[in-house]
Amino acid sequence: MKCDFRIGNGYDVHRLAEGLKLTLGGVGIPHAKGCVAHSDGDVIIHALCDALLGALALGDIGHHFPDTSDEFKGIDSKILLRRTYDMVCERGYALVNADITLLLQAPKIAPYVEQMRETLALVMGVPVDAVSIKATTTERLGFTGREEGVEAYAAVLLCMD
Ligand code: MG
Repeated sequence: MKCDFRIGNGYDVHRLAEGLKLTLGGVGIPHAKGCVAHSDGDVIIHALCDALLGALALGDIGHHFPDTSDEFKGIDSKILLRRTYDMVCERGYALVNADITLLLQAPKIAPYVEQMRETLALVMGVPVDAVSIKATTTERLGFTGREEGVEAYAAVLLCMD
């Protein structure tokens, strides 16, 4: 059935390790730890890509950008987001809004949130107010609380353009 609206959700997690770069929402963040990943490990963008793909039942990010491919080794996830959003546009849809929740214990990312929103909006060519990013700690509980990993959830609404 063709429908004007489609909803999607996405989730991603990456392990943290000392001495690696931390990139979240397309923004480099100074920190002692960064994400262990085939790409740049940007969980915000990966969760967002999965939500966009999920909204149109197009599979998942691992299907389109396999971590076994040299093409995607160390890739800037903003490129993956642009390519994912192109798939959305090609099917006649546009983003209404995305709401993303980042879970991490440290560092504080509030100073970077506006830059992340602007970056993601620019990559997709959508208004900044279509992209929401929120962050929370997990009160030192679980692997995120022990600073072993970082997680992100994303929800999106697409509308036929
Ligand atoms: Mg990932």
